Amino acid sequence: MAHITNHMPTAELQALDAAHHMHPFTTNDELAEKGARIITRAKGVYLTDSEGNEILDGMAGLWCVNIGYGRQEMADVAARQMLELNYYNTFFMTSHVPAIALAKEIASLAPGDLNHVFFAGSGSEANDTNIRMVRTYWAMKGKPEKSHIISRKNAYHGSSMGSGSLGGMSYMHEQGGMPIPGIHHINQPDWWVEGGDLTPEAFGLARAQELEAKILELGADNVAAFIGEPIQGAGGVIVPPSTYWPEIQRICDKYNVLIIADEVICGFGRTGSWFGSETMGIKPHIMTIAKGLSSGYQPIGGSIVCEEIAQTIGSGEFNHGYTYSGHPVCSAVALENLRIMQDENILDHVNNVAAPALKEGLAKLAEHPLVGTVNVAGLMASLPLSPRKETRSKFAGDAGTVGYMCRERCFANNLVMRHVGDRMIISPPLVITPEEIKVFMTRATKALDETYTAVKEGGLLKAAEGHAQDAESPLG
Ligand SMILES: *Cc1c(COP(=O)(O)O)cnc(C)c1O
Repeated sequence: MAHITNHMPTAELQALDAAHHMHPFTTNDELAEKGARIITRAKGVYLTDSEGNEILDGMAGLWCVNIGYGRQEMADVAARQMLELNYYNTFFMTSHVPAIALAKEIASLAPGDLNHVFFAGSGSEANDTNIRMVRTYWAMKGKPEKSHIISRKNAYHGSSMGSGSLGGMSYMHEQGGMPIPGIHHINQPDWWVEGGDLTPEAFGLARAQELEAKILELGADNVAAFIGEPIQGAGGVIVPPSTYWPEIQRICDKYNVLIIADEVICGFGRTGSWFGSETMGIKPHIMTIAKGLSSGYQPIGGSIVCEEIAQTIGSGEFNHGYTYSGHPVCSAVALENLRIMQDENILDHVNNVAAPALKEGLAKLAEHPLVGTVNVAGLMASLPLSPRKETRSKFAGDAGTVGYMCRERCFANNLVMRHVGDRMIISPPLVITPEEIKVFMTRATKALDETYTAVKEGGLLKAAEGHAQDAESPLG
């Protein structure tokens, strides 16, 4: 077997990567031409690439490495668990300690009577579980026609057939026959882009009321559930107006529609609470979890389910499950992650140290001529770029061009900031320190300055007619 190591020249690794490895959400031809950036190791909030650059990871990987990279305790727990019981399933009347302990711990952290966990390998799988679970629930209640699910445009719920259908990314729906039947999408509560002349509060209310209109159109007896991220992540860190979620809650209560809160990003401290539902005042019946559950040390996801649904589903056989549901190593590692979160008071750190420091730094960035505004909740944030912030204008050229330029300038300055269209997005490890946030701000400012110069020189600093940016553009 050929031995491929970190010590090989970057170009050789890039060539092998291009020859054999198909990347997600990537034009692989373009990648082959440019060569992938190859990450070789990571510690704390810093990545090291094959050229020896030390890159501050402002995205915690893909919103997941909440306790930071390279923790010894996590590796120890994984090694111990692999030797003790590397695998056993949870089908057919069997169980094991890591799955039992993790389910109990999650139940104790989750609000209200969200006391039961159905494990999956990822957020996508968990949302597929949710589709089948809510439909099965209503069927067992004698209402098999109560099966339609309402989601939002520009939502992200995963990439499998079910979860991709729940998601509202039209460029995903264009490929492979999505959405599956029975999924509907209302407009998102993105005031910056779509708010027009309304106040954020009036706009939030209007967007929530689209749910009521859709329920009435479909018939309340046909609607099983509404799904939403408390704060949209991959759509561009869209913090809804304060009026939005209370109105959604009122409508779902009124029409007996279940609420699925997709907590894959917001869960486990990202917004300063254990769950984004607590931050936004939502009372869900099911929460989707993944990412921060294990801080990305192992792949694991799940659905946290309320008493009523768990009892109902439990009275029959739920013909559903994954080989790796409750995988012992993943469960043990997730449990250790939750222990670290609690023993190190990471929520207190977010609320009292890191989030205030990030907010202060971002307030300064908001004055930058290229930055339209700042949206922030805990340790997730977005900076919509704009050629004219007073009118929330979008750029006259192709959506995402300036955002892409800015992301490239960030990389050139050893900073990971992603772009969604012309919005820069931020989601650092929760353990980031004020000193590291200063480094973040210095590099981000330099990247923005360089982008601004390039945009001006390239004649791209022109505003399009009307408000704001494109509602939706491919993941960046
Ligand atoms: C990432 C994400 C998912 C999908 O999780 P995977 O583990 O990638 O399958 C689902 N929902 C939200 C909100 C996400 O951000």
